[in-house]
Amino acid sequence: CTHFQPKARLADGTVVGAEALVRWHHPEQGLLLPGRFIPMARDTDLIVAIGEWVLEDVCRHLAAWRDAGLPELTVAVNLAARHFREPRLPERLAALLAQYDLSAATVELELTESTLLDVGLETKTTIESLRETGIRLVIDDFGTGYSNLAYLKNLPISALKIDRSLIRDLEHDPNDRAIAAAVVALSHVMGLTVVAEGVETGHQRQILLEQGCEFIQGNLLSPPLPAEAFAEWVIGQRRKSG
Ligand code: C2E
Ligand code: MG
Ligand code: MG
Repeated sequence: CTHFQPKARLADGTVVGAEALVRWHHPEQGLLLPGRFIPMARDTDLIVAIGEWVLEDVCRHLAAWRDAGLPELTVAVNLAARHFREPRLPERLAALLAQYDLSAATVELELTESTLLDVGLETKTTIESLRETGIRLVIDDFGTGYSNLAYLKNLPISALKIDRSLIRDLEHDPNDRAIAAAVVALSHVMGLTVVAEGVETGHQRQILLEQGCEFIQGNLLSPPLPAEAFAEWVIGQRRKSG
């Protein structure tokens, strides 16, 4: 099943959406985190099936939340290299958006630097067609792969997500602080927005706010939640902020 981890604007705390994170209810082992099965699935067509399933689940929930009167939310979905080798992906996505009457702004796709390296130019045509559908692309785990920064200018990327490993020691490690500040600055000169992931403390949030990072995600706000709990959380937040 899909869990949703809230993402909020740092400046005023407004919830802007969530990241969809897949979980697997294993009959014997209980709830499995993606670390237990995504790496294996990634090398097979299973990852394509999981991705299509998550995309549909996300669209279904987005439509339900809209119909229930929740504020407009954008949900980010993680995709692996194989998806970008699928020429049908843009078409599939466009069909899903149409089926649930959603705008392209409600779904974002996350891909990592290593995914980009893995697929290289093959991805370009898929990514170009995705751009035509209006879907935004986010580089996940930024700062941990072997970055070829040229992709930032060559591909229609709209945001960078600073990896959790760089956020973890933000309070104590001046190097991590410097790297985070540099990623924020790089994003801004390239016209991209920045999301910090894995934010756990108020102090980390404060540092990121001072650095000009726009969005945060992490256990400080909320861990990933099942869909119903996420919707309740959003309603609760809205009530709190009046
Ligand atoms: P990711 O996309 O970088 O997702 C962020 C991970 O950080 C999630 O782990 C999330 O639960 C965790 N996290 C968020 N905030 C905090 C925090 O404050 N503290 C700590 N300690 N952890 C936090 P999760 O759910 O285990 O997912 C791991 C990875 O599995 C994801 O990393 C993503 O690469 C992959 N994944 C998850 N769902 C999917 C999916 O539907 N498709 C594909 N292809 N990959 C997925
Ligand atoms: Mg992600
Ligand atoms: Mg990440």
